[in-house]
Amino acid sequence: MYTTQKDFELFKKEANKWIDRLSLRDWEYSFEHKDLSKNDATCKSYFEGKIIVLSLGKAINKENRTKREHIKYLAMHEVLHVLLENLYHQAIDRGFCHGDYLAEEHCVIHRLQKAFKE
Ligand SMILES: [Zn+2]
Repeated sequence: MYTTQKDFELFKKEANKWIDRLSLRDWEYSFEHKDLSKNDATCKSYFEGKIIVLSLGKAINKENRTKREHIKYLAMHEVLHVLLENLYHQAIDRGFCHGDYLAEEHCVIHRLQKAFKE
């Protein structure tokens, strides 16, 4: 399923809502709407500059949700990665395995998404 400019606007609006709610304005943000090979959305961080790039894929797999619900889900999900970004860097700096750490981070994110579900 393809995403439109309107979908991208919803993604940005939702992401900004969660950035404010979680007090994550200490990062600088930019947004992209582009082809992402295997993800529906991504969160890229440039830790030194405190810059985050949140991207929505031009094609997504909406699973069991409506497209609108899925885009809102993706926006919250990517912002929760920002919430945990400092921990991620601390862990990786100490030699944690990237894959193992990310699996645990996703466990936390999925619990938070359940708890924050509106
Ligand atoms: Zn994720």
